[in-house]
Amino acid sequence: MVAAPGENMRVNGDRLWDMLMEMAKIGPGIAGGNNRQTLTDADGEGRHLFKAWCEDAGMTVATDQMGTMFATRPGTDPDALPVYIGSHLDTQPTGGKYDGVLGVLAGLEVIRSIDDLGVKTKHPIVVTNWANEEGARFAPAMLASGVFAGVHSLDYAYSRKDPDGKTYGDELKRIGWLGEEEVGARKMHAYFEYHIEQGPILEAEEKQIGVVTHCQGLWWLEFTLTGKEAHTGSTPMDRRVNAGLAFGRILEAVQEAAMAEQPGAVAGVGQAFFSPNSRNVLPGTVVFTVDMRTPSQEKLDRMRARVEKAAADMCAVLGVDCAVEAVGHFDPITFDPTLVGRVRHAAEKLGYSHMDIISGAGHDACWASKVAPTTMIFCPCVGGLSHNEAEEISKDWASAGCDVLLHAVLETAEIVV
Ligand SMILES: [Zn+2]
Repeated sequence: MVAAPGENMRVNGDRLWDMLMEMAKIGPGIAGGNNRQTLTDADGEGRHLFKAWCEDAGMTVATDQMGTMFATRPGTDPDALPVYIGSHLDTQPTGGKYDGVLGVLAGLEVIRSIDDLGVKTKHPIVVTNWANEEGARFAPAMLASGVFAGVHSLDYAYSRKDPDGKTYGDELKRIGWLGEEEVGARKMHAYFEYHIEQGPILEAEEKQIGVVTHCQGLWWLEFTLTGKEAHTGSTPMDRRVNAGLAFGRILEAVQEAAMAEQPGAVAGVGQAFFSPNSRNVLPGTVVFTVDMRTPSQEKLDRMRARVEKAAADMCAVLGVDCAVEAVGHFDPITFDPTLVGRVRHAAEKLGYSHMDIISGAGHDACWASKVAPTTMIFCPCVGGLSHNEAEEISKDWASAGCDVLLHAVLETAEIVV
């Protein structure tokens, strides 16, 4: 049987890996990873390298008013909307070499591979570097894709401040990447994002490809518990208004709320501030954030209600004042079934082991899904480690996922014979 056009295509895995290693030289970390935070000089340098590579591949690079970069390979039909491949080149302060970077450079490798093979597509293909995905320097995360999808206003984004009080808008100008294109003006035929899993499942299950079907919904609930500062030695137990004790009880309730929704729900507390935080003073206030996630809207709603009720009840018993503010939220996302099917089919036809998986982290794809049919492909990562300089993947994994990306994108962009 003669293969259909493009059926046997593979990307150049060595070339993809070389690009990853080249990019990793910019903004090196202190332990083998990267510190290429948003709108730093290193971010600017990484952008220049990416742009040079894209132009080398004959693409035109545009930048929007948030600093997001779009590199276009034209299609044959001037009226056809582009197929997008995107992720981010910015990193955490102690980030790895692959989180985000893999998805952008794999997009470029897809272009280089189809150039090598002389393949034409009906739809243009656009490789995208979203600005400020990580949100480490300027909260919230996925800021530029959020503005693109109409979730945030441009003014809100520009006013975000880093810990030194510098604003996003000023820093974007300073590094020279304030573009002219209106954010969100371009329309997408489809959006694909290839990303490391950032969890341990694919490696443990010995699968090369994660077919991402959903993205978890999330609540970040910030609790402020107000008790009474008092001496830990001289205040009798029955006279304490102990915000610290209330915190401990709520922590347990958070655990129970997630356990009641198994499988497929997680919740925990990663940040807490005791004030005055002195070993012999009962805290007057405790401020902490609960992070809860699940792909099910019902479970997410129930977990939130359960935690808030438990907290109110426990605080009432202790005489502690309890205020709750939602400081982060995403609805659960179901990726486009047609695109998900194309990813699964590509993995099958290429002979790669695969499984359906849910994204535990937020991604630019989550916001893109508000404005275009969207899906993601996951690459295994060693030990599930991410947001860590020791983050690691193998060249074979990187290239297998890029092959799947190539085929799913070509099916969507339509090869012109
Ligand atoms: Zn990422």
